[in-house]
Amino acid sequence: MTEYQSNWAGNIAYGAAELYRPQTVEQVQELVARHNKVKALGSRHSFSNIADSSEALISLEDFNQVVGVDHQRRRVIAGAGIRYGQLCEQLHREGYALHNMASLPHISVAGACATATHGSGDRNGNLATAVAALEIVAGDGQVVMLSREQHGEQFQGAVVGLGGLGIVTKVTLDVVPAFDMRQIVYENLPLAQLEEHFEAIVSSAYSVSLFTDWHGARINQVWLKRRVSDEAAMELEPTFFEATLAAGHLHPIAELSAEPCTEQMGALGPWHERLPHFRMDFLPSSGSELQSEYFVPREYALAAIRAIDRLREHVAPLLRISEVRTIAADTLWMSPCYQQACVALHFTWKKDWPAVSKLLPLIEEQLAPFDARPHWGKLFTMPPARLQSLYAKLPEFRQLLRSYDPQGKFRNAFLDTYIYGEN
Ligand SMILES: Cc1cc2nc3c(=O)[nH]c(=O)nc-3n(C[C@H](O)[C@H](O)[C@H](O)COP(=O)(O)OP(=O)(O)OC[C@H]3O[C@@H](n4cnc5c(N)ncnc54)[C@H](O)[C@@H]3O)c2cc1C
Repeated sequence: MTEYQSNWAGNIAYGAAELYRPQTVEQVQELVARHNKVKALGSRHSFSNIADSSEALISLEDFNQVVGVDHQRRRVIAGAGIRYGQLCEQLHREGYALHNMASLPHISVAGACATATHGSGDRNGNLATAVAALEIVAGDGQVVMLSREQHGEQFQGAVVGLGGLGIVTKVTLDVVPAFDMRQIVYENLPLAQLEEHFEAIVSSAYSVSLFTDWHGARINQVWLKRRVSDEAAMELEPTFFEATLAAGHLHPIAELSAEPCTEQMGALGPWHERLPHFRMDFLPSSGSELQSEYFVPREYALAAIRAIDRLREHVAPLLRISEVRTIAADTLWMSPCYQQACVALHFTWKKDWPAVSKLLPLIEEQLAPFDARPHWGKLFTMPPARLQSLYAKLPEFRQLLRSYDPQGKFRNAFLDTYIYGEN
């Protein structure tokens, strides 16, 4: 099996018989025109079959160039297959930054935005909120340009598109002036402190991540990513809500080497070397893991954390690590944070799908009172009808998909099940 026949984690073998790596938009157009079933492939980091197709996959790997920087409007235009790590280094040289990043910089921009991939930070929308325009090859093989300014609601529906509208060939992203950051890690935050001071804790830095293994009544690690303009940035306080300053660099799974992690201990560095947890110049781990993640409206954060804590004895044995992050509300139809600020509860599992697939329904049942929505690119077991009921804009999204793809070329088993509910 070549690497393209499966996803990064190796838990999904793609069913497509053909894989193409086009070099030009014209080649993409020709491929879309020629095939009945086709799907764009990003960097293959999704854990579900969302990127699969029964006939042909089109890798956008070679669409990895920065096409231009619009200094006046503060925007960057890039090939859709560019990875964040590649894009960020070039952006930084131009004096710009992205507002946020995911834990891993190896992920492609179009793939991340198509699934509403996010980082953390009370005031930070997911990565797709930076999208200002898209160039898409639609089902008829024609190139369509869509922009936030010109296409209003249609644009809001298209950005988190789950690969269903077509093959995105170019993305335009909003950028901000480059900034420096410091990353500081604290260990052993008592859950009682989190209960009492949740708002103060998650708003205490530009981006805050809480890592826990659910083994005890504590958060194992708190990662604070502070912009140097933050007032508290210069201070490395020895304690943080009774958690203690880490004595050295830490991996979120404390037993593992921190070598692949971005620099901590308050060392000053550029935004793209602090916002992700992992470094671009290290190969991410081999993929021996599975991931799930659920978004709940911000006001249910503590109730949702308590609900998972009640399942501790089921969760902990299957877990590598959990992460809790906050995400600002947005206006993108298929984003789990559509019109609601959220807290995301993430689980990196041991690679044991038979056991994980038995546990997910329990977690989903516990989180159901909070209308938890699963991450589009990770593993879940929620029935399609339940998932569909959580997206107010789903009928409009289906219509949008049909208008871009009347023949259903970009439909796959995932979309058939979770968007159309026909499986
Ligand atoms: C180690 C690891 C860490 C992660 N960390 C985070 C995190 O911090 N936050 C988070 O939210 N998620 C995270 N994820 C999940 C990941 O961001 C998503 O699964 C994301 O979709 C992966 O992007 P990709 O390029 O690999 O997309 P793929 O998995 O290749 O594809 C995902 C979807 O995007 C579509 N797509 C890809 N490219 C295009 C295109 N050019 N045009 C149209 N559609 C396209 C595909 O058709 C498919 O539907 C992580 C995953 C891993 C493996």
